[in-house]
Amino acid sequence: MHISPTITVSRGRLGLATAQVLEQVRAIGVAHRDEIASSTGLSLATVGRAVGQLTEAGLLRECPRKGRARGLGRPGIPVEVDPDAYVTIGIHVGRRIATVALGDLTGRVVAQDAVRRSAGAVPDLAGISRRAAALLAGLPGRAPVSTGVVGPWRELGLAPSNVGAELGELTGLPVRTGDHIAAVAATEFLHRRHGTPGVTLYVYARDTVGFAVAVDKGTQTEVSRVGSLSHYPTGSHVSCWCGRTGCLEVTAGDDAVLRAARDACLLEDWSATGDIPSITRLYAAAASEPAVLELLRRRAGLLGRVAASVRDIVAPDRVVLVGQAFTGSSAVLGDITDAFAEASALGEVPVSFTRFGAGIQAVAACTVALGPVYDDPLGVVPGRRPHPSAALAD
Ligand SMILES: [Zn+2]
Repeated sequence: MHISPTITVSRGRLGLATAQVLEQVRAIGVAHRDEIASSTGLSLATVGRAVGQLTEAGLLRECPRKGRARGLGRPGIPVEVDPDAYVTIGIHVGRRIATVALGDLTGRVVAQDAVRRSAGAVPDLAGISRRAAALLAGLPGRAPVSTGVVGPWRELGLAPSNVGAELGELTGLPVRTGDHIAAVAATEFLHRRHGTPGVTLYVYARDTVGFAVAVDKGTQTEVSRVGSLSHYPTGSHVSCWCGRTGCLEVTAGDDAVLRAARDACLLEDWSATGDIPSITRLYAAAASEPAVLELLRRRAGLLGRVAASVRDIVAPDRVVLVGQAFTGSSAVLGDITDAFAEASALGEVPVSFTRFGAGIQAVAACTVALGPVYDDPLGVVPGRRPHPSAALAD
């Protein structure tokens, strides 16, 4: 079954009036009805009706205290997205860790939990759903409205449609699935809405490596064209599970760099146990251990060069580097950008690092979970939905 990797991050002037209004309010923050009307192109009467329905449903709320700040004569009290009434459930299935999170309707993560899982095992979706129910129990009064599940599906050997269908059964909620790199890119895009016309290239690296492209079409913005860089040839001597040698993921992924540190006995206590330590320990060790810093700098240079060659292929208007392999160690950010600038043949281009650090997987999953809400806001509200979320309470 073919699943499109496209995630719609901005629906612009397409879709239901309630969806357009909710999206504009989220973008503006605190919004007056006339502002919403001018940015959506909807009539003031249509906006007023949609605001009324969304407020009644608990998706928007009025902010009377902010009503006079923008000048006299504006009709009505401004509104904002109500972050307290509902939550989404965001699930990220990684190779070694599954993350379960609850997000509010602005996309902010309000609770999260991590579950270790064994690589290659089928994810325990029932156990993950129970974790979600436990998180919900800690936030009384909030009703779940939708679920988003993201993962590197191809690498995990899982069909997202099957995972989505099972989670739909378990949670009783509408489920949206997404490729995790596209989800990370969508998240980054949504949180920097301004100044992103044209094509934005997102290069992601942690345990998996790949890229996604956001294309702002004016009426609608989609994140698509996801490419894997897992087996990009680097010339290293590391064996890959694909049978070849020198693939990028086994050379520069977090797991790979940890194994390299252990194999080189860069820190004595690691070699004694044989355990793979956490990547954050490696980053911390770089401050006092020159050999660790050198290892990280070599990886940074490699990732910078790979990002540059993807940039030269895609020719985007800007490049955003995301994932902890890019952002985890502040000591080597300069090595990444220097290697990028040196390797790219197309001259200067704005390059930035995501503002999201270790929490990116949770935010990305909650962003994908917002899809059903922003497609049909009133359709996900409990009581109007065909299947209430009773299953989660079990
Ligand atoms: Zn390979």
